[in-house]
Amino acid sequence: MALIVQKFGGTSVANCDKIRNVAKRVVKLAQFGNRMVVVLSAMAGETNRFVELAIQMQKLPDQREMDVLLSTGEQVTVALFAMAVRDEGVECVSLLGDQIKIVTDSVHTKARIKHIDSELINHHLDAGRIVVVAGFQGVTESGDITTLGRGGSDTTAVALAAALRADQCEIFTDVEGVYTTDPNVCDKARKIERISYDEMLELASLGAKVLDIRSVGLAKRYKVPVHVRSTFTETEGTWVVEEDKNMESMLVSGVTYNKHEARITITRVPDTPGIASRLFTPISEAGIVVDMIIQNTRSGNLTDMTFTVPRPDYDRAMKIVEGVARDIGAERVSGSKDIAKISIVGVGMRNHSGIANTMFGVLAREGINILMISTSEIKISCVIEEKYSELAVRALHDAFALDKDFVPLEQAN
Ligand code: ASP
Ligand code: MG
Repeated sequence: MALIVQKFGGTSVANCDKIRNVAKRVVKLAQFGNRMVVVLSAMAGETNRFVELAIQMQKLPDQREMDVLLSTGEQVTVALFAMAVRDEGVECVSLLGDQIKIVTDSVHTKARIKHIDSELINHHLDAGRIVVVAGFQGVTESGDITTLGRGGSDTTAVALAAALRADQCEIFTDVEGVYTTDPNVCDKARKIERISYDEMLELASLGAKVLDIRSVGLAKRYKVPVHVRSTFTETEGTWVVEEDKNMESMLVSGVTYNKHEARITITRVPDTPGIASRLFTPISEAGIVVDMIIQNTRSGNLTDMTFTVPRPDYDRAMKIVEGVARDIGAERVSGSKDIAKISIVGVGMRNHSGIANTMFGVLAREGINILMISTSEIKISCVIEEKYSELAVRALHDAFALDKDFVPLEQAN
């Protein structure tokens, strides 16, 4: 008998028929003798609808009241789900974050879980009930309702799995798992069977949307194996687990692209101490997150700096940089929104040299100019012109033979 936590996303519970299907699926597992804890999101689109309602009332909605509003979507789905299970003749109880006591800090709309009381859930499981928990919500020590940030139901599921020491944590969504790249861009994209937490963190931060990134960090910390899979099929999805030997021998696990950034270059900046700080302090004070930064040293004590910012922040960042440029006597500020960041990710990179060269060679052969490069232990990213991003993704996917399950090292080099 296993303790299984299963989370179903908004598209999986988008209407009554879908909720009933999910309920039937869960009941089957319960009837095999498993202890079942189910976490649900709100019906697809509901949370967005609440946000729109809120801004009709108050331009900048009060954050405490926002959480009271946002948390209602999950209250609806868990109640309907419990009814559907009972309709199958099986006992089920719905629980909200404040009933269980999923205790969070008081940062409304993006609260962090501090601890979870497992007593009430265990009590109901012992009594033979299926327990369905509202995702995305918690409660502060002083009793205020909080939410965990958009996409936060994944975090609820992983945190519950950790707190209850579940045997399995399954995240059901509308795709079959994590792919080697975006199947819409590359028809050879393949579902990955097993991927490490660290790779998943890189892929998630680079734009793969299957799993909320905070839940992956939590899964890593508490060593919770997570199975991402589709609600609409029975096929195995992707396991996100601790790193193992097989993963290391895969050089690259995935290729991602990100079109959400823009580039800013400031030319002929005096190369003196404190310049970077004068440039980046006002940008960060404006709440703009800088990603890649490159500084090239030039002769004559002048240097160039290039960095990327989120595309929606480009105009604001440009204004700030133009101001700083005047103050510090830089020659010119230029920039472009038409860039894309292409990245390859894989724990195999730790032990194998030459992977960066392969990447650069592939881009060169396709005639794609690299504008910026950055690397981490398990990731290499290149900024290129946006119009080449699909071509680059396909070429890299081919070069690292990601359509094949397993690639001998010699072949990839
Ligand atoms: N309903 C929330 C959202 O749309 C939480 C979730 O679905 O994970 O962000
Ligand atoms: Mg989600």
